[in-house]
Amino acid sequence: GAEIVFCGRSNVGKSTLLRELTGHDFQTGQKPGVTRSPGHYDWNPEDFVLTDLPGFGFMSGVPDEDRERIKTDVVQYIETHAEKILVGVLVIDGKSAVDIIDRHTERGDIPHDVELFDFLRDVGIPTVVAVNKMDKVDDRDERLNAICERLGLPSPWQQWQDTIAPVSAKRGSIGPLTDAIGSHLHEQKRDDLL
Ligand code: GDP
Repeated sequence: GAEIVFCGRSNVGKSTLLRELTGHDFQTGQKPGVTRSPGHYDWNPEDFVLTDLPGFGFMSGVPDEDRERIKTDVVQYIETHAEKILVGVLVIDGKSAVDIIDRHTERGDIPHDVELFDFLRDVGIPTVVAVNKMDKVDDRDERLNAICERLGLPSPWQQWQDTIAPVSAKRGSIGPLTDAIGSHLHEQKRDDLL
């Protein structure tokens, strides 16, 4: 069936967000680096399947090669299922994403978040960036503009509300995300009818 995938670095709050969206009891604070097969969960209001892809990126105590393999698996899953994936949600930590992206860029590496964002769009999947932990961010607009800039989206962020969804999963404040996902789903339904 139709699928919405969730991906992101470990510890960004992806499980908390999925629990908030579905009511399912996701395992939060899971032991990092343990490769899970993608979890599939029904999303009642829209009758879609939400797929929880394993968290990637730095995890203390996890060897580099395991981390690389997890990311490769995530990319491969998306590539294989691209036809059926209606929306890709990249979850990032609003408090730390910019610093982490800049650190990787300064080292001459491609930051994971930027790589995944570009990849999802390259394979033609409408992409939403769930900027989580906004409850910890003081300079909201500035921060969201900085995130846009890192992703190659011109400021101001407000013009990207179908793509940039500031949320706080822990506080249950996820309206911008369900709106953004909904806008892509409706767009596709309309395209199907034309
Ligand atoms: P995952 O590894 O991406 O699945 O992350 P988890 O859902 O396990 O969350 C990692 C940590 O971030 C936990 O301590 C959560 O309580 C915390 N967390 C998740 N969402 C939020 C949020 O919106 N705000 C804050 N402040 N903390 C959050």
